Amino acid sequence: MRRTRIVATLGPASESDEVVLELAKAGVDVFRLSMAHGDIPSGIERLSRVRALVPDLAIMVDIPGPKIRAGSFGSLPVTLAVGDEVEVVEGFGETSTSAKIYVEREDILAQLKPGDRIHIGDGGTSLLVIKSGATTIAKVTSGGAVMGKPGLSLPSSILNDRLPTDDDRARLEALRTEPFEILAVSFVRSAFDMVSVRTVLSRDDVMMMAKIETGEGVANLDEIISVSDAIMVARGDLGVRMPIEEVPHLQKLIVRHGIRYARPVVVATQMLESMTHAQVPTRAEVTDVANAVLDGASAVMLSGETAIGDDPVGTVITMDRIVRRAEESFDYAKWGSSLGVQQIVGTGTQSTRITAAITGAAWRAAMEENAVAIVACTRSGMTARAISRFRPPMPIIAVTPSESTARQLRSSWGVQEVFVSPSTDIDVLCDFAVAEMKKAGIAQSGDAVVIMAGSSSGGTAITDTVRMVIVP
Ligand code: PGA
Ligand code: MN
Repeated sequence: MRRTRIVATLGPASESDEVVLELAKAGVDVFRLSMAHGDIPSGIERLSRVRALVPDLAIMVDIPGPKIRAGSFGSLPVTLAVGDEVEVVEGFGETSTSAKIYVEREDILAQLKPGDRIHIGDGGTSLLVIKSGATTIAKVTSGGAVMGKPGLSLPSSILNDRLPTDDDRARLEALRTEPFEILAVSFVRSAFDMVSVRTVLSRDDVMMMAKIETGEGVANLDEIISVSDAIMVARGDLGVRMPIEEVPHLQKLIVRHGIRYARPVVVATQMLESMTHAQVPTRAEVTDVANAVLDGASAVMLSGETAIGDDPVGTVITMDRIVRRAEESFDYAKWGSSLGVQQIVGTGTQSTRITAAITGAAWRAAMEENAVAIVACTRSGMTARAISRFRPPMPIIAVTPSESTARQLRSSWGVQEVFVSPSTDIDVLCDFAVAEMKKAGIAQSGDAVVIMAGSSSGGTAITDTVRMVIVP
């Protein structure tokens, strides 16, 4: 079984019923649906269709935040050559060319000053503003090919919108009763942003994932993670807002933080970029995916590769192979023992510290006794997420009464789910878990199994019990 999860972004190349099902078969755990393109009703329609197709997988809905897009360059690459001058003007639904680029956002051009830089897409194409105004003149300083509707990155002083933006708010309101598990929030810069979005969505059955993609997001990492349920290393925007050579180090930093807080961490963008058109990835991309696994990512993500690529299914199959191979080289014992110290979060609440201590004890017991599985009896998924961060070599089984928790756990490293009818009696849960594992062939008579359970006190879930059971 592969333990690092695969997130695939749906788009024109992949959203037909047929391809969604093939992608699921190829190993996708989480489908990402962007709410950035198209109108809200068609986004909702797509969401319910995909939900019905893959009832066991997680769906991540991504809200764009203050992302500014260029008017479409069309479906063929348009080349912007170094030294060329281009006009940049405001306009909606217009077609951009190599001489005139439309910006789909009001009141933004007036804020630009000569000397400001505009980055286009994730591909390194950038412009230098020479003359500002309703018709802004800019010079291409880094050339490249652009197509479709690329994002435009402007100096961050201009983007002082608080989250959620008005557009996001309309989407969040439409999403209040829709079936999905994870909300990915773009351009989160503070804990306040995250809390504001959570308040507008007002759902406790949806995990809130903060996309770390700005300098402020990195600077406020701790406070953001503590109010989020999951995080994403959004390397695309991060790479244009921070010096590009920082990206690999920020990836490691953000992954480590996510693990300390027991939050699933997704590493995203350009992982197999060349497969958007090529049949075989570059060696550098293969190494990047493997390194993300070795860094400890919970999941690796595909964006354009599956949304607009030539072979979405082939790309997922390739990613699956790379991840499985990388997991063979993962040092599980070393990871877990170094986490023993790292996971103590100084600012954590008492319930966080108890969960950390109990899951640490469960991991040690399982390693010392060579247990065949670690079972987390969990209603909210919290216990399973807390043990998952230790990356134990044996299966992690989440025994849960909740279908939505089971789907959410598709974003957590290495967790398999087993359904149980609601019960609070720990003896009943233990007997059930052991019987299920015998049935599944995971445990045989005489094997050791570690079982964890939690309780709820005053509304907060705490993992407070660990048992070692010898399978009868
Ligand atoms: P996006 O986010 O694809 O929605 O821009 C990911 C990233 O910026 O890397
Ligand atoms: Mn982004």
